[in-house]
Amino acid sequence: MFIKPYRDVIELLFRTRFAPSPTGYMHLGNLRTALFGYLLARKMGGTFVLRIEDTDQERFVAAAVEKIYETLRIAGISHDEGPDVGGSYGPYVQSERKSNYLEYAKELVAKGSAYYCFCTKDRLEGLEEYDRHCCGLSIDEINKNLADGLSFVIRQLIPQGKTTFIDQVYGEITIENEELEDQVLIKSDGMPTYNFANVVDDHLMAITHVMRGSEYLTSTPKYNLLYQAMGWDIPIYVHLPHILREGGGKLSKRHGDAYFEDFLDKGFLPEAIINYIVLLGWSPPENREIYSLAELEQIFGVEGISKSPSIFDMAKLRWFNGEYLKAMDFDAFYALAESHVRQAVKRQDVDIKALAKIVQGRIATLDELPEMLDFIDNLPEYDTELYTHKKSKCDVAIAADVLSKIAPKLAEYDEGPWNNESLYKFMTDFAQEAGLKNSQVLWPMRVALSGKPATPGGASDLLAILGKAESMRRIHHALSKGGMDVV
Ligand code: GLU
Repeated sequence: MFIKPYRDVIELLFRTRFAPSPTGYMHLGNLRTALFGYLLARKMGGTFVLRIEDTDQERFVAAAVEKIYETLRIAGISHDEGPDVGGSYGPYVQSERKSNYLEYAKELVAKGSAYYCFCTKDRLEGLEEYDRHCCGLSIDEINKNLADGLSFVIRQLIPQGKTTFIDQVYGEITIENEELEDQVLIKSDGMPTYNFANVVDDHLMAITHVMRGSEYLTSTPKYNLLYQAMGWDIPIYVHLPHILREGGGKLSKRHGDAYFEDFLDKGFLPEAIINYIVLLGWSPPENREIYSLAELEQIFGVEGISKSPSIFDMAKLRWFNGEYLKAMDFDAFYALAESHVRQAVKRQDVDIKALAKIVQGRIATLDELPEMLDFIDNLPEYDTELYTHKKSKCDVAIAADVLSKIAPKLAEYDEGPWNNESLYKFMTDFAQEAGLKNSQVLWPMRVALSGKPATPGGASDLLAILGKAESMRRIHHALSKGGMDVV
């Protein structure tokens, strides 16, 4: 379960990692980080590592790790190595690697780049500014304290000067070391802090490209000082811009736009989410937007990453989802949509499959179905004003006239099967004979059959779906409404 740092040998290979802390749900920003790291590794023929950073966690959150696993699986992001868990690779889990870190911290102490700190919480809380009190302890004092079993932490000793590094996205960054604090590397319970374990593991796992959110830009100098003190190579850094909401602010749980799971629950397809988020902060080399994961694995590159925050656009995500739904072959779509359609339509005489065919190209997400199909079980109350439709050149009088004349013909309809094509022909033939525009027949029929201004499919689809008896009932109901008397 331990990779030796053959860094010099594999230097030219790309090794990226996703290093989530198990918090429970997968933030969209984190998923994008995972995706970018995965794509870069795939593009370069490298290795993608999954490492769970749980040392700051109160306890090992097994369920949260499961969640990360599950999310990555659904997203199609697979990692390449890790401890053997019954024939497949598990993730590296930092809390299971505890013993490594203390040894490295002691080495840093020996090199003068870290020190034991025995300060009590009370003492620290009483200070206005941290005073490096224990940095000045003699070796004898330290040994005595250790022998006495005093509780301690190990802190990084930040040297004077300034630290500069180059980030692949943000360029050269310089931080005055006095802005950095002597951060704790090993906590009093012997566990490394997240910051320390992160550096040790990136080294041990020979990570060549560290990709993570730009909130880590300011911590990076501290990490670099640790690499330098240990004599380790500093990885290449690729920090990623934030994803913000329209109008500013972070994606949030409250707005239901923070977590991958939120979107799955709303009926978004994982492929559509992945396709959308890859374009948040990265521009593809070609001028198109729809990409499969396999395609992205061929074309992804750091050069397309932008440093300005990307704006999350719900409407755009919906568009992507609609495109993915449309492009699915019907059987796959039906497998996905059947239960949603059944939930929205309880009538037994409706052909659910035919209905699914009609809605496939017309929805952005599956959760639009209940509202879209709500008129099928029960015709909603509607105002006859709905018949007035400028574009169709229709008004209430025309509707009343058309419906009263078409009703007896439809009752005797025997020109062909009761299906979309032949009913469409029936209605357009009727329009022609009556000297009307097609829309002047189709619009009132659509309103009479659905009670709504917008429906999946047109009047002939609705006739086919509802069947003859129900269609006739609705047309007669339309004619019985006030103001629909034919003059
Ligand atoms: N464990 C950190 C997080 O979940 C990741 C930091 C990193 O990628 O270096 O935000």
